Amino acid sequence: MDALSTEDLIHAESVLYHHFFCYVKSMALSCAVHLGIPNAIYHRGGSATLSDLIADTGLHASRLPCLKRLMNVLTISCIFTASNPPATGSSTTGSLSSREEVVYKLTTMSRLLITGDDNKLCSMSPMLHFLVRPLTVTPFFGMHSWFKDEQAASKSFFEMAHGCDRWEMTSKNAEDNGVLNEAMVADSQLVMEIFLREAGGKIFSGISSLVDVGGGLGGASAAITRAFPHIKCTVLDLPHVVSQASSRCNGTVHFVAGDMFEFIPRSDAVLLKWVLHCWGDDDCIKILRLCKAAIPAREDGGKVIIIDCVMGSGPQDPVSKETHALYDLYMMYINGVERGENDWKKIFQEAGFSGYKIVSGLGIRSAIEVYP
Ligand code: SAH
Repeated sequence: MDALSTEDLIHAESVLYHHFFCYVKSMALSCAVHLGIPNAIYHRGGSATLSDLIADTGLHASRLPCLKRLMNVLTISCIFTASNPPATGSSTTGSLSSREEVVYKLTTMSRLLITGDDNKLCSMSPMLHFLVRPLTVTPFFGMHSWFKDEQAASKSFFEMAHGCDRWEMTSKNAEDNGVLNEAMVADSQLVMEIFLREAGGKIFSGISSLVDVGGGLGGASAAITRAFPHIKCTVLDLPHVVSQASSRCNGTVHFVAGDMFEFIPRSDAVLLKWVLHCWGDDDCIKILRLCKAAIPAREDGGKVIIIDCVMGSGPQDPVSKETHALYDLYMMYINGVERGENDWKKIFQEAGFSGYKIVSGLGIRSAIEVYP
């Protein structure tokens, strides 16, 4: 192999450490939200100094230098902005002149982490809590053993780590059930905000009833009934999820406890938001066949609406492409997968559907209308 130049070594060192420390970024973000930093900046009208943050979060003043280091990472990561940022650069001599205090402001990303906002801005904090916690992260330490363990072929590495599959865990662990379901509501609020604004009329016109299969606590259905009050939405989910949901959605959504591998109630349309990526192709085909049996013929307006990733579709900037790839690898922890158009096409054909249409341009997820 060619000898490496000093320039190559310096670059590789920096990039490798960047990757090694990626999880520190997730942890820093999680820490900031646990401390209530986005909320504190928001309640100060959108900008706050470190002393403000110390006062508002109730931290001891001795933590100020550490808080500054946390905010430094999150500012470099574009979660906050900082006016008058501390001097960087190659000089090794420090300035002794006194500086004004740095003022931190929210960016769109941190606005989406505010909780309890009166203006009903959706909050992705519950999703962050779900993704960045030991129960979710631990299985990834076993990923390499899972790759090598052929005996465990059908088991996911979630199952190898926890001894039960993802939905058995929510059924027996009330805390996990709550955290997962609230995370899904958070995601639904954000995704449906985008979808209903940009494609709601196209996708939901002509429908008077819809079953939201694996609809959790009804986040997506609640958004649909708010935008289209004439659509009767029914959520089908597992009993331990539905039992948490009865008081949600102000009675505008009907909840049915059941198993989507056994029965799906009849309606004009079926919604599968972020459900099929949790399962392999054979299971998806089973679910889709039952969906087809639950809706009218194509000429009578029957359709299945899937909201999921279509790999290779949507924004193609480096961050979005990496997010898609990371999502796909992340879903492997429960034997799930993110699919490209050809993968989707194959399962639609096998489930007996006659055609489909992808509505992209809606972010990292797309909508797919599938016709019986
Ligand atoms: N559609 C929701 C939730 C997606 S997570 C959203 O996007 O916010 C997948 C959902 O499928 C969970 O709510 C889970 O409880 C549900 N689920 C898993 N197995 C199921 C089954 N056999 N029958 C019905 N729902 C199921």
